[in-house]
Amino acid sequence: MSLQRRLTLLYTSLVGGVLLLSGVAIYASVSVELLARIDTQLANTAEQILPAIRTSGSQISLTSFPPLDQVETVYIQLWSQDGRLVANNTRFNDSIDPAGLRINQTIYRTSTFHAAHLRILDVPLVVGERPVGILQVGGSLGTIDTTQNVLRSVLLISALISMAVVALGAWLSTGQALSRLKAVTEVATHITRADDLSRRIPVSPPEEDEVGQLIIAFNQTLSRLESLFNTQRRFLTDVSHELRTPLTVIKGNVGLLRKMGVTDEESLSGIEIEVDRLTRLVGDLLLLAQAESGKIPLDMRPVDLDTVLLEVYQQARVLAGDRLQVRIGEIDQVQVMGDRDRLKQVLINLVSNAIKYTPAGGQVILALSKSYDMARLVVSDTGPGIPTKDLPHIFERFYRAEKSRTRGRDGSSYGLGLSIAYWIVHHHGGRIEVESKEGHGTTFVLWLPLDKTTR
Ligand code: ADP
Repeated sequence: MSLQRRLTLLYTSLVGGVLLLSGVAIYASVSVELLARIDTQLANTAEQILPAIRTSGSQISLTSFPPLDQVETVYIQLWSQDGRLVANNTRFNDSIDPAGLRINQTIYRTSTFHAAHLRILDVPLVVGERPVGILQVGGSLGTIDTTQNVLRSVLLISALISMAVVALGAWLSTGQALSRLKAVTEVATHITRADDLSRRIPVSPPEEDEVGQLIIAFNQTLSRLESLFNTQRRFLTDVSHELRTPLTVIKGNVGLLRKMGVTDEESLSGIEIEVDRLTRLVGDLLLLAQAESGKIPLDMRPVDLDTVLLEVYQQARVLAGDRLQVRIGEIDQVQVMGDRDRLKQVLINLVSNAIKYTPAGGQVILALSKSYDMARLVVSDTGPGIPTKDLPHIFERFYRAEKSRTRGRDGSSYGLGLSIAYWIVHHHGGRIEVESKEGHGTTFVLWLPLDKTTR
């Protein structure tokens, strides 16, 4: 059953239930009230008649009925104890309530007398301890019956009309609310069928209601999925591209060796270089996969960052040779909790990038300081800078800025270094920032939480 039907049925049944309960309550209270009025009238009538009844021994008599202040017709019968009809204002000689002739206490009963529906009061007459007769006073229940019939019809009809109105209202309003959900389902189905994640569901007003919020959330999920799929696709293309180049070189060199039939040192070292490249690439990819899935094995211990910085500085000087000047700005004694080898790898990545991209005659400066509860490691260079359009992407896998891509392949540039650095720092509870302007050098700042035990 559709949600629209279920909701309509639910609302209608609820309203029906409430109306039934209130209808029964109204009907019952009106009936009780009307019956109580008739009973009072019968009691008044009996009280007016009783003084006119004469008794002598066990004989009773009533010469005439006293004038009654009674608007409606009353049925009055006076019966002696031996079953003789002593007085009667009806056209019939049988009792208006035969069962009431055998009672020994005042009682109200409802009965039918010659097709008339009556309320009857039976009053036993007693002289001393001895019962001498029964006075029966009856009043027509016709008015009550009519009132009850009308009330029943009015309640039933108004309940049916109310339920119909509620059902219609619920059907239309839920239909309107659900029609937007139907639109969402249609677009979602279309997206799945057409495999087109670039489509979005149009957000129709009101945007702030539950359906609007659902559409916005769904669109956000689509955007996230789209970007994940694109990254995945690009990643596969990039990996296959990076793998193909060294494999082609290796195959070429193997072919050359076979053709010449002798071991050619140049071809062998060419193969070796490409195998090294492949090994490094596969290693980087593995590390990245582990880091992104949060399963990177980190050997966390207190690390003296200043010592690590000095080691990297020595390596950097060798790497830069006479081409660049590498120097240390300020350096504090700083201890952090982390994996020494991984943190050193991050620093080497940043420093080797600075050396790689800074033209001859430039400078690479390293610095280490404390700022509140964080260690601040800076690697800045006087190189060409990173174009603003590339800046948001440099931490993405395989991303290389336009210039670096066309710079030619030196075998060390995969565009993975910064992604790995990002994840390693991230898993240390730190962050990595970059500031760069084209033509004005680049500064990477690495923030790491200080080791709590030494702070
Ligand atoms: P790569 O292996 O290409 O260096 P990275 O992930 O380390 O890959 O860097 C991504 C890109 O960021 C580089 O291709 C380069 O365009 C840019 N980049 C990184 N560091 C610097 C720097 N110090 N100066 C200029 N560009 C840089």
